[in-house]
Amino acid sequence: MSRLARGAIVAVLLSACTVGSRRAPTAPPAPAIEVTAAAARIAAASERAPAAAWARLAELTDGIGNRITGSTALARALAWATARMRDDGLDNVRLEPVMVPHWVRGKEHATIVHPIERPMALLALGGSVGTHGTLRAPVVTFDDLDALRATTATLAGKIAFVNHRMPSYDETRDDPGYVRGMQARLHAASEAAKRGARAVLVRSVTAVGLRTPHAGALQYDDGVPRIPAAALSLEDAELLARLSRRGSVEVELALGARTLPDAPSANVVGELRGRELPDEIVLLGAHLDSWDVGQGASDDGAGCVAVMEALRLLREAGLAPRRTIRAVLFTGEEYGLAGAKTYHREHTKEHHVAAFETDYGMGAPDAIGVGGGDAGMRAMEPLLPTFARFGIRRFRDHAFGADVEPIVQDGAAAFNLQPDGHHYFDIHHTEADTLDKIRPEDLRQNAAAIALLGYLLADR
Ligand SMILES: [Zn+2]
Repeated sequence: MSRLARGAIVAVLLSACTVGSRRAPTAPPAPAIEVTAAAARIAAASERAPAAAWARLAELTDGIGNRITGSTALARALAWATARMRDDGLDNVRLEPVMVPHWVRGKEHATIVHPIERPMALLALGGSVGTHGTLRAPVVTFDDLDALRATTATLAGKIAFVNHRMPSYDETRDDPGYVRGMQARLHAASEAAKRGARAVLVRSVTAVGLRTPHAGALQYDDGVPRIPAAALSLEDAELLARLSRRGSVEVELALGARTLPDAPSANVVGELRGRELPDEIVLLGAHLDSWDVGQGASDDGAGCVAVMEALRLLREAGLAPRRTIRAVLFTGEEYGLAGAKTYHREHTKEHHVAAFETDYGMGAPDAIGVGGGDAGMRAMEPLLPTFARFGIRRFRDHAFGADVEPIVQDGAAAFNLQPDGHHYFDIHHTEADTLDKIRPEDLRQNAAAIALLGYLLADR
């Protein structure tokens, strides 16, 4: 479906959002009495329990911890989320089974052994094979993935090192450079293996480091030998690059990573059943799995808690929407999108009118991303003063969520939460993704904004 068609859906969904709003969405905004009344009820419910969502996030992050697919922690988190949705009185709370990859890190270390001796901070990339013992080899450095692809030299017996630098954060750009950095992380191993390399090291995908390596998935090409791959902290990447410029460098690498058979997991689903159009669905999504470092607080525990809180607030506020609002906490987002694929396959016959995802951390409220181009933006614009109550400053003409993407491709209107992103990637996929980075008030306001968005999309 085209952006134009999706924009038209947004316009139709929201066409009754202002009083006297039989008028066209391009007309000057009328006083939004109905909308402001709904927002006031959501605000009141939120202010009655301002720390409720954060306390819930503490249960998940401090009580259960990080949640990689295949782990017992993820299984505990699934049971926890289901129980909390039942506590909140949601409808049709259930686990929908999904088979997920089960990769385990094992013990790992890397040391520069020539021309100096220096341990490096690293994390094996998700899905990497292990080294089966300790591997020692000379390092060949490339500035980015293109330079590796362009090389005509053989890398036989070598460790390839791809030092792609992510640019400093720039809030005017839709993508702060993560997508390009991720390409290097995903493809460096197979590109290096095609040229004979024994292993690959990549610079962590971040612009800022405090010597924390960043985890993330890789993608092996079919028919290419699978070689071990790991991400270095930014500081160690810089050291390795400096040493390489001065002469030959050798590294010792040991990765205990291995892949076990796929494991059972599930998406968690809970609903506010629509009072008039229960078969029309507004999906609010986030993902419950995380990497195996830190607490998975910012990515994406906070998103899960915010979605759960949005439905709780609507129920508490007595706002029963015409359409069904469905919370989906996806499994397996970080590695292979198994939860998203299974959901899409099993729910293909249902009518999703809109799909929202929150998976960009839980910084201070800032923006809501709107798919559907100009028409979508025009339909949303009159609502900005109401969303401002929850700290939302702007709508952005760009919405993306990896889990909801297949549903958007089928025609659902797309939305996502875009809180302040200045520091999101600093801690993304690291040991530092912990609860202390998230302010209770930011979580409260973002959750209230999600509740308002869900209500508007489901009630008009
Ligand atoms: Zn995420």
